[in-house]
Amino acid sequence: MQAIKLLYEGKAKKIFETQDSQLRIMEFKDDATAFNGQKKGSIHDKGKINNRVSAALFELLESSGVKTHFVKILNDRNMLVRAVEIIPLEVIVRNIVAGSMAKRFGIEEGKRLHEPVLEFSYKNDELGDPMMNRYHALALGLATREEIDYIEKTSLKVNEILRDFFASKDILLVDFKLEYGRFGDEILLADEISPDTCRFWDAKTMKKLDKDRFRRDLGDIEQAYLEILERISK
Ligand code: UDP
Repeated sequence: MQAIKLLYEGKAKKIFETQDSQLRIMEFKDDATAFNGQKKGSIHDKGKINNRVSAALFELLESSGVKTHFVKILNDRNMLVRAVEIIPLEVIVRNIVAGSMAKRFGIEEGKRLHEPVLEFSYKNDELGDPMMNRYHALALGLATREEIDYIEKTSLKVNEILRDFFASKDILLVDFKLEYGRFGDEILLADEISPDTCRFWDAKTMKKLDKDRFRRDLGDIEQAYLEILERISK
């Protein structure tokens, strides 16, 4: 399968059309941004690592019955995916308080939640992805009630699968972001699942093994991303 035309270039990925209108190629870049694009940089080999981490996690989810856009890995930085129409909602699931939730509610990072929290935000860079609830999403016609029900149910299932998987690798799954897309009559889990879009903490040392190392200038960024790839590959 070959890339024919660049369809979209985002902060961390490029999407290409292929000869098959149902399939696209997703290329993972080394570019990193944070704080809605205000902080820019590059993480050596991040694209290659995120390609492999995302592929492994999509395969794990598919094997547990979650439908995803993932088809197969093509090479170092590229994976073949189904051509979905992205629903403009970011779904965040949290198990431990961190990041914007800590800030918003004035709670210390690290507090374990009694049950998972699911948040939506409106996928809009100009507005800085504002938080929204399911009523906003429905009333604005971003998705139907059935789609939102499916997205909520699937995201909580994804959380259970990933939380257990990472626990078996001595990693705490603190929180993560998912995106979904329409593919014919189906809704598929899309985008990526990687240290760019999840918070991972080492369960023993609590060392951060994710993009917070870039956001907060903690150093050892590539090593942290590689650590995730190595642990999940065992
Ligand atoms: N996240 C993401 N893309 C975004 C916003 C958040 O991948 O545009 C991920 C982020 O990496 C973290 C989780 O979603 O794993 C929760 O992020 P949070 O709301 O705490 O925002 P942040 O602190 O990243 O601004």
